[in-house]
Amino acid sequence: MSALKGIVKGMATTMRILLERKHTIQYPDRRRARSSRFRGRHELRRYENGMEMCVGCELCQVACPANAITVYAAENDPNAPHSPGERYAFRYEIDMLRCIYCGLCEEACPTEALHLTQEYEMAAFSRGALVYGRDILVSREPSAFAIPEEVYPPFKGRRPLVEGEERPEREAEERPAVPAQRAVDA
Ligand code: SF4
Ligand code: SF4
Repeated sequence: MSALKGIVKGMATTMRILLERKHTIQYPDRRRARSSRFRGRHELRRYENGMEMCVGCELCQVACPANAITVYAAENDPNAPHSPGERYAFRYEIDMLRCIYCGLCEEACPTEALHLTQEYEMAAFSRGALVYGRDILVSREPSAFAIPEEVYPPFKGRRPLVEGEERPEREAEERPAVPAQRAVDA
């Protein structure tokens, strides 16, 4: 009699759990909404005119508690600059396997170039594929940010921002040549 009672009790528990609201969802067919403060994959923004906002200052690298960021800066070619500053990040890498998504790099960035997006689907089959470089991190689209003219005084070779804007002259020797091994864009 006690065995039958146990079976009935077990079945009742099973039925109760079956009829409860499910806490799991059929991912990836369904996705839960993320908080607006969710921190996912990093992105390096571009200004509205397409120039990179990152000036290779390396502050994000210093701020990262997980040593996940590697930045090597190089002097901009005055005739074809990547950023409005004197330097740009010719090599920029984030090891996503080390990152703890704390957001300190984003806070440290003085140009607001670096930010963490809502993207979280980053699965890969090798460790190397999770070390993101410039080809993945630098946005392909311009943002709404305009170059702050008070921060970046024009220098020789900088592309005019406005049609007909004059390019100020500056002595060429002020800008040392980019070392050969750094001249290759990643
Ligand atoms: S989110 Fe945090 S751990 Fe990840 S790269 Fe930025 S500073 Fe480093
Ligand atoms: S992302 Fe920001 S903090 Fe990092 S090197 Fe570029 S400008 Fe500096």
